[in-house]
Amino acid sequence: MNNIDINIQTINKKIKEFLKKKNNPLKKITIIAVSKNQNIDKIKLAISSGINEFGENYVQEGINKIQKLKKHNNLIWHFIGKVQSNKTKLIAKNFDWCQTIDREKIAILLNKYRKKNLFPMNVLMQINISNETNKNGVCIKNYKKLAKIISLMPNLNFRGIMIMPSTKKEIIKKYDNYKKGSIIFHELKKKYQSIDTLSLGTSFDIEQSLLFQSNMIRIGRSIFKNKMI
Ligand SMILES: *Cc1c(COP(=O)(O)O)cnc(C)c1O
Repeated sequence: MNNIDINIQTINKKIKEFLKKKNNPLKKITIIAVSKNQNIDKIKLAISSGINEFGENYVQEGINKIQKLKKHNNLIWHFIGKVQSNKTKLIAKNFDWCQTIDREKIAILLNKYRKKNLFPMNVLMQINISNETNKNGVCIKNYKKLAKIISLMPNLNFRGIMIMPSTKKEIIKKYDNYKKGSIIFHELKKKYQSIDTLSLGTSFDIEQSLLFQSNMIRIGRSIFKNKMI
Protein backbone atom coordinates (compact mmCIF):
# COMPACT_ATOMS: atom_id res chain seq x y z
CA MET A 1 0.00 0.00 0.00
CA ASN A 2 1.28 3.46 -0.86
CA ASN A 3 0.79 6.61 1.23
CA ILE A 4 -2.10 7.88 -0.86
CA ASP A 5 -3.90 4.57 -0.34
CA ILE A 6 -3.37 4.81 3.39
CA ASN A 7 -4.46 8.46 3.53
CA ILE A 8 -7.68 7.76 1.62
CA GLN A 9 -8.51 4.75 3.77
CA THR A 10 -7.95 6.86 6.88
CA ILE A 11 -10.29 9.57 5.60
CA ASN A 12 -12.97 7.06 4.57
CA LYS A 13 -12.77 5.46 7.99
CA LYS A 14 -13.07 8.83 9.72
CA ILE A 15 -16.21 9.64 7.71
CA LYS A 16 -17.74 6.21 8.26
CA GLU A 17 -17.15 6.32 12.00
CA PHE A 18 -18.53 9.81 12.26
CA LEU A 19 -21.73 8.86 10.41
CA LYS A 20 -22.12 5.72 12.51
CA LYS A 21 -21.76 7.75 15.68
CA LYS A 22 -24.45 10.11 14.41
CA ASN A 23 -26.71 7.20 13.45
CA ASN A 24 -26.60 8.13 9.81
CA PRO A 25 -24.50 5.36 8.22
CA LEU A 26 -26.21 5.57 4.83
CA LYS A 27 -25.57 9.22 4.09
CA LYS A 28 -23.39 9.71 1.04
CA ILE A 29 -20.42 12.01 1.37
CA THR A 30 -18.56 12.89 -1.83
CA ILE A 31 -14.81 13.31 -1.49
CA ILE A 32 -13.15 15.68 -3.93
CA ALA A 33 -9.39 15.13 -4.12
CA VAL A 34 -7.91 18.60 -4.57
CA SER A 35 -5.09 17.87 -6.98
CA LYS A 36 -3.65 21.35 -7.56
CA ASN A 37 0.14 21.15 -7.79
CA GLN A 38 0.01 17.33 -7.85
CA ASN A 39 1.46 15.44 -10.80
CA ILE A 40 -0.28 12.86 -12.98
CA ASP A 41 1.35 9.90 -11.25
CA LYS A 42 -0.04 10.94 -7.89
CA ILE A 43 -3.48 11.45 -9.39
CA LYS A 44 -3.27 7.97 -10.91
CA LEU A 45 -2.50 6.56 -7.48
CA ALA A 46 -5.57 8.32 -6.07
CA ILE A 47 -7.66 6.84 -8.93
CA SER A 48 -6.39 3.33 -8.07
CA SER A 49 -7.40 3.98 -4.47
CA GLY A 50 -10.99 4.60 -5.54
CA ILE A 51 -11.14 8.39 -5.99
CA ASN A 52 -12.88 9.59 -9.15
CA GLU A 53 -13.64 13.26 -8.42
CA PHE A 54 -10.86 15.85 -8.58
CA GLY A 55 -10.69 19.57 -7.88
CA GLU A 56 -8.36 21.96 -9.70
CA ASN A 57 -7.69 25.65 -9.00
CA TYR A 58 -5.87 26.70 -12.15
CA VAL A 59 -7.54 26.40 -15.54
CA GLN A 60 -4.64 25.37 -17.74
CA GLU A 61 -3.10 23.00 -15.20
CA GLY A 62 -6.51 21.36 -14.81
CA ILE A 63 -7.11 21.02 -18.54
CA ASN A 64 -3.68 19.41 -19.08
CA LYS A 65 -4.54 16.78 -16.51
CA ILE A 66 -8.06 16.24 -17.86
CA GLN A 67 -6.59 15.57 -21.30
CA LYS A 68 -3.84 13.29 -20.04
CA LEU A 69 -6.35 11.22 -18.06
CA LYS A 70 -9.05 11.05 -20.75
CA LYS A 71 -8.99 7.27 -20.96
CA HIS A 72 -10.30 7.03 -17.41
CA ASN A 73 -13.80 7.82 -18.54
CA ASN A 74 -15.48 7.92 -15.15
CA LEU A 75 -13.56 10.89 -13.78
CA ILE A 76 -15.41 14.02 -12.67
CA TRP A 77 -13.54 17.33 -12.68
CA HIS A 78 -14.43 20.27 -10.43
CA PHE A 79 -13.11 23.77 -10.97
CA ILE A 80 -12.59 25.25 -7.50
CA GLY A 81 -10.36 28.28 -8.13
CA LYS A 82 -11.26 31.91 -8.54
CA VAL A 83 -13.05 32.28 -11.90
CA GLN A 84 -11.75 35.00 -14.20
CA SER A 85 -14.22 35.97 -16.89
CA ASN A 86 -11.71 35.41 -19.71
CA LYS A 87 -11.35 31.76 -18.59
CA THR A 88 -15.06 30.92 -18.50
CA LYS A 89 -15.09 29.43 -22.00
CA LEU A 90 -12.32 26.95 -21.15
CA ILE A 91 -13.96 26.06 -17.84
CA ALA A 92 -17.37 25.50 -19.43
CA LYS A 93 -15.84 23.34 -22.13
CA ASN A 94 -13.59 21.14 -20.00
CA PHE A 95 -14.92 20.80 -16.47
CA ASP A 96 -17.99 18.95 -15.15
CA TRP A 97 -18.52 21.22 -12.16
CA CYS A 98 -17.70 24.80 -11.25
CA GLN A 99 -17.87 25.36 -7.49
CA THR A 100 -16.90 29.00 -7.44
CA ILE A 101 -19.55 31.19 -9.06
CA ASP A 102 -19.34 34.44 -7.11
CA ARG A 103 -20.96 36.99 -9.43
CA GLU A 104 -23.62 37.39 -12.06
CA LYS A 105 -21.22 37.87 -14.95
CA ILE A 106 -19.58 34.48 -14.34
CA ALA A 107 -22.94 32.68 -14.30
CA ILE A 108 -23.95 34.33 -17.56
CA LEU A 109 -20.66 33.51 -19.29
CA LEU A 110 -20.50 29.88 -18.12
CA ASN A 111 -24.07 29.45 -19.33
CA LYS A 112 -23.25 31.05 -22.66
CA TYR A 113 -20.17 28.89 -23.29
CA ARG A 114 -21.51 25.57 -22.05
CA LYS A 115 -22.04 23.51 -25.20
CA LYS A 116 -25.59 22.37 -25.79
CA ASN A 117 -24.40 18.83 -26.55
CA LEU A 118 -22.94 18.46 -23.03
CA PHE A 119 -25.02 17.94 -19.90
CA PRO A 120 -25.72 21.23 -18.09
CA MET A 121 -22.68 22.21 -16.05
CA ASN A 122 -23.07 21.43 -12.34
CA VAL A 123 -22.46 24.61 -10.40
CA LEU A 124 -22.18 25.83 -6.84
CA MET A 125 -22.41 29.41 -5.63
CA GLN A 126 -19.42 30.33 -3.46
CA ILE A 127 -20.47 32.37 -0.45
CA ASN A 128 -18.11 34.51 1.63
CA ILE A 129 -19.86 33.51 4.79
CA SER A 130 -17.48 35.16 7.23
CA ASN A 131 -17.46 38.43 5.28
CA GLU A 132 -13.67 38.50 5.37
CA THR A 133 -12.50 41.07 2.87
CA ASN A 134 -9.64 38.91 1.56
CA LYS A 135 -11.91 35.99 0.75
CA ASN A 136 -13.66 35.03 -2.47
CA GLY A 137 -17.36 34.46 -2.78
CA VAL A 138 -20.55 36.46 -2.99
CA CYS A 139 -21.25 38.40 0.20
CA ILE A 140 -24.18 37.55 2.43
CA LYS A 141 -26.29 40.49 1.36
CA ASN A 142 -26.15 39.52 -2.33
CA TYR A 143 -26.40 35.74 -2.38
CA LYS A 144 -30.19 35.56 -2.83
CA LYS A 145 -30.08 37.62 -5.99
CA LEU A 146 -27.19 35.60 -7.40
CA ALA A 147 -28.97 32.32 -6.58
CA LYS A 148 -31.97 33.48 -8.57
CA ILE A 149 -29.81 34.33 -11.58
CA ILE A 150 -27.97 31.00 -11.50
CA SER A 151 -31.25 29.09 -11.23
CA LEU A 152 -32.53 30.71 -14.43
CA MET A 153 -29.58 29.58 -16.59
CA PRO A 154 -30.64 26.67 -18.83
CA ASN A 155 -27.12 25.31 -19.35
CA LEU A 156 -26.23 25.33 -15.65
CA ASN A 157 -27.50 22.88 -13.06
CA PHE A 158 -27.64 24.76 -9.75
CA ARG A 159 -26.52 22.13 -7.21
CA GLY A 160 -25.81 24.17 -4.09
CA ILE A 161 -23.21 26.21 -2.25
CA MET A 162 -19.51 26.15 -1.53
CA ILE A 163 -17.81 27.73 1.45
CA MET A 164 -14.16 28.01 2.43
CA PRO A 165 -13.53 27.60 6.15
CA SER A 166 -12.88 30.78 8.07
CA THR A 167 -9.24 31.67 8.57
CA LYS A 168 -10.14 32.86 12.05
CA LYS A 169 -8.56 30.84 14.82
CA GLU A 170 -11.38 30.89 17.32
CA ILE A 171 -13.36 27.70 17.06
CA ILE A 172 -16.54 29.48 18.09
CA LYS A 173 -16.32 31.74 15.02
CA LYS A 174 -15.72 28.73 12.78
CA TYR A 175 -18.79 27.00 14.18
CA ASP A 176 -20.80 30.15 13.74
CA ASN A 177 -19.86 30.25 10.05
CA TYR A 178 -20.65 26.58 9.47
CA LYS A 179 -23.98 27.09 11.09
CA LYS A 180 -24.79 30.09 8.90
CA GLY A 181 -23.74 28.08 5.82
CA SER A 182 -25.94 25.19 6.80
CA ILE A 183 -28.94 27.47 7.35
CA ILE A 184 -28.49 29.16 3.96
CA PHE A 185 -28.10 25.75 2.28
CA HIS A 186 -31.39 24.50 3.71
CA GLU A 187 -33.16 27.72 2.88
CA LEU A 188 -32.02 27.58 -0.77
CA LYS A 189 -32.78 23.85 -1.00
CA LYS A 190 -36.39 24.62 -0.13
CA LYS A 191 -36.58 27.19 -2.87
CA TYR A 192 -34.68 25.46 -5.69
CA GLN A 193 -35.38 21.79 -6.40
CA SER A 194 -32.04 21.06 -8.02
CA ILE A 195 -30.06 21.89 -4.89
CA ASP A 196 -28.50 18.93 -3.07
CA THR A 197 -24.86 19.84 -2.38
CA LEU A 198 -23.16 21.59 0.53
CA SER A 199 -19.42 21.74 -0.19
CA LEU A 200 -17.93 22.80 3.11
CA GLY A 201 -15.07 20.77 4.57
CA THR A 202 -11.34 20.67 3.83
CA SER A 203 -8.44 18.67 5.30
CA PHE A 204 -8.58 20.22 8.73
CA ASP A 205 -12.28 20.24 9.43
CA ILE A 206 -13.77 17.06 8.03
CA GLU A 207 -15.73 16.16 11.15
CA GLN A 208 -16.86 19.69 11.96
CA SER A 209 -18.21 20.15 8.44
CA LEU A 210 -20.09 16.84 8.55
CA LEU A 211 -21.63 17.95 11.81
CA PHE A 212 -23.19 20.82 9.85
CA GLN A 213 -24.51 18.54 7.09
CA SER A 214 -21.81 19.06 4.51
CA ASN A 215 -22.06 16.27 1.94
CA MET A 216 -19.09 17.21 -0.20
CA ILE A 217 -15.61 17.69 1.20
CA ARG A 218 -12.59 18.99 -0.67
CA ILE A 219 -9.37 17.42 0.52
CA GLY A 220 -5.91 18.21 -0.77
CA ARG A 221 -3.01 17.83 1.60
CA SER A 222 -4.42 14.98 3.68
CA ILE A 223 -4.73 12.83 0.56
CA PHE A 224 -1.54 13.67 -1.27
CA LYS A 225 0.98 14.21 1.49
CA ASN A 226 3.70 11.66 1.94
CA LYS A 227 3.60 11.19 5.66
CA MET A 228 0.78 9.34 7.33
CA ILE A 229 -1.96 11.51 8.85
C1 LIG B 1 -6.64 23.97 -1.91
C2 LIG B 1 -8.08 23.94 -1.67
C3 LIG B 1 -8.65 22.95 -0.85
C4 LIG B 1 -7.86 21.86 -0.19
O1 LIG B 1 -7.15 22.33 0.88
P1 LIG B 1 -6.25 21.33 1.73
O2 LIG B 1 -5.93 22.10 2.93
O3 LIG B 1 -5.07 20.99 0.88
O4 LIG B 1 -7.06 20.12 2.03
C5 LIG B 1 -10.03 22.96 -0.72
N1 LIG B 1 -10.81 23.89 -1.31
C6 LIG B 1 -10.29 24.85 -2.08
C7 LIG B 1 -11.19 25.85 -2.72
C8 LIG B 1 -8.90 24.91 -2.29
O5 LIG B 1 -8.40 25.88 -3.06
